[in-house]
Amino acid sequence: MRILVVEDEKRIADFLSRGLESAGYAVDVSHAGSHAIEMVHTTEYDLVILDLGLPDMDGLAVLQKIRNRKVTPPVLILSARDAVDDRVKGLEGGADDYLVKPFAFVELLARVRVLLRRGQPTPERLQVGDLTLDCIRRKVVRSGENIELAPKEFSILEYLMRNRGRPLSRTMIVEHVWDMDYDGLTNIVDVYIRHLRSKIDDKWPQKMIQTVRGIGYMLEAPEKQAERTI
Ligand code: CA
Repeated sequence: MRILVVEDEKRIADFLSRGLESAGYAVDVSHAGSHAIEMVHTTEYDLVILDLGLPDMDGLAVLQKIRNRKVTPPVLILSARDAVDDRVKGLEGGADDYLVKPFAFVELLARVRVLLRRGQPTPERLQVGDLTLDCIRRKVVRSGENIELAPKEFSILEYLMRNRGRPLSRTMIVEHVWDMDYDGLTNIVDVYIRHLRSKIDDKWPQKMIQTVRGIGYMLEAPEKQAERTI
């Protein structure tokens, strides 16, 4: 899940990106409206968090530009303006939600999760073989046993499970789970896959995560793997 934070105030932008990253999201930050519009054009975001007071243009104008595109991510407006009028304008302009500064991070996170879920027709509970992942409660269970995962491990596993039976390259995984800054650091994927394997595969005779030579990784139910080799 990839989120674009559009916020000119560095302190708030840092606070948001750190918080969202530790919750397992990939976060890009833009400090200006024009730059944000460019980024939305070149990168597929699952959500945009948009401040209204930007140095180069009004956030509502940015919202309009984003909304003019055919496929647009949900937008959560963040603003110090708490007048009802502004809130209405934001929502009428196509924003999906509106949060007034100052806000509690937990509230922002709760709203982010709701918006991301809304944009996703995929089920909230993923199941592959005896492995289940609850996207809402962020719980992972294999053969009835609870498995504790770090946020990035959870994100990688969720991505693999949503794409079960389909090989995913290291670059795809990096782009989905980390930020742009991680370009070229695809080795980090191997490290995290090793952690994941130690938690969801090592104890069981049948392995879920497969290495796909020359590409990356794929997750598949052991029964399916057996079918393919026959
Ligand atoms: Ca601002």
